[in-house]
Amino acid sequence: MPSSIATSILNLPRAKFKDMEYVNDTQRTQFVRINVDSDKRYKPRCSNCGSPAPINRNGFREARDSGAFGHIVYLRFEQREVNCPNCGIL
Ligand SMILES: [Zn+2]
Repeated sequence: MPSSIATSILNLPRAKFKDMEYVNDTQRTQFVRINVDSDKRYKPRCSNCGSPAPINRNGFREARDSGAFGHIVYLRFEQREVNCPNCGIL
């Protein structure tokens, strides 16, 4: 699937579809993991006041999404912690 179509279907602003994989995990069950990258065209912003802010730390987070075609779906995306000049580290 072309990434631009997948990005449109996911409807995640400021994010881009990277890839997807079918995971057979004994802790959960079989599921589809959709990996999403941050759109590097946008600078990070503070979630509290909306000001542009430098990244303090980043990592990845996984969240369950609505299922598709009978499969459990998880989204894996980058979560940024910013150091806002107004609000501090968020
Ligand atoms: Zn702020």
